[in-house]
Amino acid sequence: MNENCVFCNIVAGKIPSAKVYEDNDVLAFMDIGPVMPGHVLVIPKQHFNPIWNLPDDLLAKVLAVAKRIAKVQTEVLGADGVNLFQTNGEAAGQTVPHVHFHVIPRRNGDGAGWAIVPRPYASPAEAAALAERLRNALA
Ligand code: 5GP
Ligand code: ZN
Repeated sequence: MNENCVFCNIVAGKIPSAKVYEDNDVLAFMDIGPVMPGHVLVIPKQHFNPIWNLPDDLLAKVLAVAKRIAKVQTEVLGADGVNLFQTNGEAAGQTVPHVHFHVIPRRNGDGAGWAIVPRPYASPAEAAALAERLRNALA
């Protein structure tokens, strides 16, 4: 547990939360600043950040819970769609540095989409060069 981490304190019960799901490894609770009503956060109980430090088996458990919650949001809350969203680092908009997935129920025409505007490459070669660097690093 990281004493200074808001989500570790939620896991420890030192900060109250509206819990949605809990098991040995995973906790899901309502986001205090919902983008849409029913917005849930899903976290590993253990403190990891960013996502590439989270062991794959734990990531799989967290995502499996997020998937189940997304389905239930459509069934119980009448969501027409669901966003799964995840941030790493301040540059990516992360405000709480403990891995978490946002699970956000969406309605047709709800206007809650975020302003991610595509910025096209100057040429296909630029995309190809970046793809090559990433591919090589993954090999
Ligand atoms: P981020 O911007 O890091 O991806 O998202 C962090 C989220 O945590 C935000 O949506 C914010 O509303 C939520 N949050 C921050 N502090 C608390 C808290 O004390 N309790 C709950 N339930 N959510 C929190
Ligand atoms: Zn933490």
